Amino acid sequence: MGRKFFVGGNFKMNGTISSIKGIIDNLNNAKLDPETEVVIAPPSAYLLLAREHLRQGIEVAAQNVFDKPNGAFTGEISVEQLKDLGITWTLVGHSERRVLLQEEDSFVASKTKAAVDGGLGVILCCGESLEQREAGKTIDVVTSQLKAVADKVSDWSKIVIAYEPIWAIGTGKVATTEQAQEVHAEIREWLKKEVSPEAADNTRILYGGSVSDKNCVDLTKQPDIDGFLVGGASLKPAFIDIINSKM
Ligand code: PEP
Repeated sequence: MGRKFFVGGNFKMNGTISSIKGIIDNLNNAKLDPETEVVIAPPSAYLLLAREHLRQGIEVAAQNVFDKPNGAFTGEISVEQLKDLGITWTLVGHSERRVLLQEEDSFVASKTKAAVDGGLGVILCCGESLEQREAGKTIDVVTSQLKAVADKVSDWSKIVIAYEPIWAIGTGKVATTEQAQEVHAEIREWLKKEVSPEAADNTRILYGGSVSDKNCVDLTKQPDIDGFLVGGASLKPAFIDIINSKM
């Protein structure tokens, strides 16, 4: 089965009503490759605005979700609340949350389970630091992040994996096509052994980390790169070129 190309835009903690409406107008009016699935993740305060203004066919993701259904969890947002807003996806395990907010693998896994069980699609982020890469630990780090999820979740049909080396995020230092392909192929091999051959064939593995309109086309040519998770460039008009990079 072919894996549909997927491009996600992670706005992080950026934007205002006016600038987010501007990005959405740009997407609504653009000619987008119908063979590419597009999902944008604005800050939580703007999720409803995004859903209401965005045309059908482009989905909206939260940047985070909590693993409990409701209750005394100040500042958190539940799967049911996201669904109530018409949100169909969530990011989980972004390195900025893993590093700055000390989110551990097991917590990321619990959130992934809650989202998948509740019917949300999950963009599950993983990736190594520069220190870990230089110590030759990239695959161990990435597969142990994924294993924490596999310990709790058996159905991977709603999960898209985003491989995002931390040293490439927001630095302008994109992984080479060979570096990205190597890790993507290893992730697929891991899926085959630890989840199922079907999950290995069907799960989209995105690359994230300083993707731009300048470097995206070469990355699309790699057999195990099924799309991108885009940070900074998703706020710019060039996001359209990244969405259409496979055309
Ligand atoms: C991200 O935040 O997921 C990301 C990949 O950021 P950037 O594209 O800015 O490196």
